[in-house]
Amino acid sequence: MIDRFGRNIDYLRISVTDRCNLRCVYCMPEEGVPFKSHEIILSIEEIARVVRVAAENGVTRVRLTGGEPLVRKGIIALVDDISHTPGIEDVSMTTNGILLPRFGEDLREAGLTRVNISLDTLDPEKYRQITRLGHIDDALAGIDCALELGFDPVKINAVAVRSLDQDFLAFARLSIDRPLHVRFIEYMPVGLSSGGTGAGWTAEDSIPTDELIGRIDTEAEAAGIGALQPVEAEDAPGGTGPARYYRFAGAQGTVGFISGVSNHFCSTCNRLRLTADGKLRPCLFSDREVDVVRALREIGTDEAIEHALYEAVGIKPEEHEGDEGTERRMSQIGG
Ligand code: SAM
Ligand code: SF4
Repeated sequence: MIDRFGRNIDYLRISVTDRCNLRCVYCMPEEGVPFKSHEIILSIEEIARVVRVAAENGVTRVRLTGGEPLVRKGIIALVDDISHTPGIEDVSMTTNGILLPRFGEDLREAGLTRVNISLDTLDPEKYRQITRLGHIDDALAGIDCALELGFDPVKINAVAVRSLDQDFLAFARLSIDRPLHVRFIEYMPVGLSSGGTGAGWTAEDSIPTDELIGRIDTEAEAAGIGALQPVEAEDAPGGTGPARYYRFAGAQGTVGFISGVSNHFCSTCNRLRLTADGKLRPCLFSDREVDVVRALREIGTDEAIEHALYEAVGIKPEEHEGDEGTERRMSQIGG
């Protein structure tokens, strides 16, 4: 599936649920978001069917996300189904890690190869403050479990938010002794335009990548670790993607930066998103969506699903305007 700007769309990012066991301050309001009813949410079989049709049309990689994908019933069966779908070469997951010790082994056996675990601080109090509901020991146990089970690579996603006053060097240091790939994600304006009840994003709260690298380098040099060294694109963990990678001398892992706000990576964007309620979303930052539910439930043919996929690819914008905001929150899109 080639879009109007010559990009080959071969990556499908699926939000399998809008529910979550945490309430991260930048993602969800404290009281949660009104969840979509079970009838609206795509069934495991419907998601697997969309993946099969997408794979027949050139999709080779699938990432499962949410909400929290590990609170979705049937998630292991879904991983198993997708990993056995002809044409799918890679199935990965973005998770807060809390339930990995419980499900990690089954997920690995079902064919999950890689995990991204979201963690924004190493300070237990701050973790509680950011996630509102979580205990940091659970997330750290999730990381240990991911390494023990041999997921490769294991990436740690940290959203950098100025007002949260995170210790970025402590975080980057996680990449030194173990093969962990720490990635700092610019805080993005998602969920803003919902009548002022969005996650409270402000431009000042996003820390531009260059500023962040500068801060980490200064502190790392003062601590005798030395500055970050760029990693060549072909040596980046898990292949090409929107992150720019660096490494501390002698480190086992890397430190990456994803600059969704300050540095558009739209020209190489190869992804399509599927929301839990069955909308194909060509761009994270735009509310233009294509409904796939009718194709699944009313028309019921593979051709109709294929048509929806091509329609979504056909309206994929060339690039996004950095701060346009969206009606949906990140937990409803999948990040
Ligand atoms: N619950 C899973 C998790 O936290 O990894 C998967 C879903 S979560 C929405 C996916 C990613 O989006 C997480 O890494 C989270 O930190 C990130 N995220 C959420 N809101 C964000 C925002 N406003 N800007 C940047 N990243 C955000
Ligand atoms: Fe849940 Fe992930 Fe959003 Fe945190 S970032 S509230 S863990 S969906």
